[in-house]
Amino acid sequence: MANQRLPVRVIPNARKNFVVVTMRHHQSCCLAVSAIVCAGLLLVLPVVVIAGGRKPTPGAIQASISFREQRIKMVETQIEGRGVTDKQVLEAMLKVPRHLFVPERYRVYAYADQPLPIGQGQTISQPYIVAFMTEALSLKKDDKVLEIGTGSGYQAAVLSEIAKEVYTIEIVPELAESAEECLKSLGYGNVHVKCGDGYLGWPENAPFDAIIVTCAPDEIPQALVNQLAEGGRIVLPVGARWTIQKLILAEKIKGQIVQRTLLPVRFVPMIHGNETK
Ligand code: SAH
Repeated sequence: MANQRLPVRVIPNARKNFVVVTMRHHQSCCLAVSAIVCAGLLLVLPVVVIAGGRKPTPGAIQASISFREQRIKMVETQIEGRGVTDKQVLEAMLKVPRHLFVPERYRVYAYADQPLPIGQGQTISQPYIVAFMTEALSLKKDDKVLEIGTGSGYQAAVLSEIAKEVYTIEIVPELAESAEECLKSLGYGNVHVKCGDGYLGWPENAPFDAIIVTCAPDEIPQALVNQLAEGGRIVLPVGARWTIQKLILAEKIKGQIVQRTLLPVRFVPMIHGNETK
């Protein structure tokens, strides 16, 4: 996996204690995990046969317990450990099953400290950056949020655990479709997915209390500023393609954008509707 395919990794010196876990390490983890899973399956098989396969197998229960444990560890070490304190964000990160938003072959890496491929040349962001951007939005439970760049739907699910309604736009039809399906199957009824060009926003549902952009435009798109409510917050990476970009947090005060830079980051570019990938 080429480095430029991992665009959402936070730059090491931006916050303390970054541990970059390499895929090589994870591949060996994968083999070890597979061996354990195979041994586990052999042990539980007779139980499944006796039970007629109607109840969840001990193996399945064991797998989901271990994903939960991985999630708890992820929150403690990668998120709380790096300074995210918002209780709602920590709870949302504990709750959303990230492994169900990544392609099956990457599930064993779902809680690792890194972005992961989700198909169509796109990535799901590193867990820390999802939590950091969510916290930056200072969400309230009645908020209406717009996300640009649905991708896997994971960030939208995290937002929807805190806010009232989430509107999310994805430009790649295959990703919009699979994210919508995934969110629906997990019961995220307050997330609305649209396939379209995020530069245009979603004017029918504006104004939004918060906007999050998970792909990088060259500058803050004006349509998004127009669709932000007074006192609303927008968080987004801004900068040229495949370079280090600035993660910006801006607030709309008396119609004007007041902004500050939070972190250096690297996201996939925000493409225009007439561009081919
Ligand atoms: N938030 C996602 C990760 C997003 S990756 C998650 O949680 O998985 C960035 C996404 O932005 C990609 O899926 C890419 O296709 C999408 N994207 C790029 N340009 C866009 C545009 N103009 N409008 C909407 N989506 C766009």
